[in-house]
Amino acid sequence: MKFKLRSSVSVVDSGNNILEFFKTSTRQSVKIKTKDDLIKKLVLSLDGERDFDEICSDLKINSASEQLKSLISFLEKKAVLSHDDLLRGREDYIPYGRVIHFLEDYSESDEEMLEIWERVRNSRVVIIGLGAVGTWLAVNLAQSGVRNFVFIDNDKVELSNLHRQLLFYESDIGRQKTDVVKERLCFFEEDVSVDSYNMFLEDGVLEKVSGKVDLVINCADKPSVDETSRIVGRFCMKKKIPHIVGGGYNLHLSLIGQTVIPYESACVNCFERQLVKINDIEGKRIKKLNIKNRKIGSFGPMCSLIASMVGMEAIKVLSGKIKPDNINRRGEFNIYDMGISYKDFDKLDDCEWCGEGR
Ligand SMILES: [Zn+2]
Repeated sequence: MKFKLRSSVSVVDSGNNILEFFKTSTRQSVKIKTKDDLIKKLVLSLDGERDFDEICSDLKINSASEQLKSLISFLEKKAVLSHDDLLRGREDYIPYGRVIHFLEDYSESDEEMLEIWERVRNSRVVIIGLGAVGTWLAVNLAQSGVRNFVFIDNDKVELSNLHRQLLFYESDIGRQKTDVVKERLCFFEEDVSVDSYNMFLEDGVLEKVSGKVDLVINCADKPSVDETSRIVGRFCMKKKIPHIVGGGYNLHLSLIGQTVIPYESACVNCFERQLVKINDIEGKRIKKLNIKNRKIGSFGPMCSLIASMVGMEAIKVLSGKIKPDNINRRGEFNIYDMGISYKDFDKLDDCEWCGEGR
């Protein structure tokens, strides 16, 4: 039998005979108490290459001792050790090994780690709007191993897109955005599958998407984010598909939108009802004057940051194991102090979409 310390585990000698195993992704630590230096040497020798009995024999340790067996079983149970290298020989290990090791910390066994990875890998994600958030997001997900996409956008690349939207170059001006993004994602992985719908989101468009859908992410702001989020929300509640509101709302370009798990978390309608109340109170203090043809300031670092936050939530949802964090809340990133403030929302019992009497 070969054992291997999980790739994301680091080992620290904390003194007082305490050996600490630290999982870098989840910041969890597992401690054991041992006075025996040989046990420390043994643990550090578990690299998955050499047989366990052989290492024990070199260190003159009895590999069959009950104490050692229970130590190994404890470390396996705590997901510090792997007993088999299930990844060895897999084609996707070289390009995505680091992603897999990231997911490793959220799994209780090697088998579960592979299940999570396969779920991410085989998932199909709808991205609505290939603009300042959608393009960065598509890259984030493709880099994380997602290979099945549906894009909904009817825009063509314009010169004014290039400063904040990823994947577009001057030579792409006039081309359909869905075509360009598909072409560039195939540079990451040849067999990325993309179904494109060259249309703007309106009622009935999502119904045209055939095949399974694991997640819908709304990055579209035409005619408005409110309107597109309502369309996405209504469709996804009916089909019980998780969905994420991926950016901009009510002039807040730095919005980190909510994740909705249908009938488990607050839905788009729950958020909207509570936002109406908040806006009503604010509206009494401030009189909003509408200015035509306004172009709100924006730049790449801010767009990519918001897209990364959405991308992390997306991977959590797709993993089927890691709990998403932006359920029942939405955040706002403040570029001046680099802080993020979150506001909590409730799942309303009397919500027309997700409540008891719906
Ligand atoms: Zn609701």
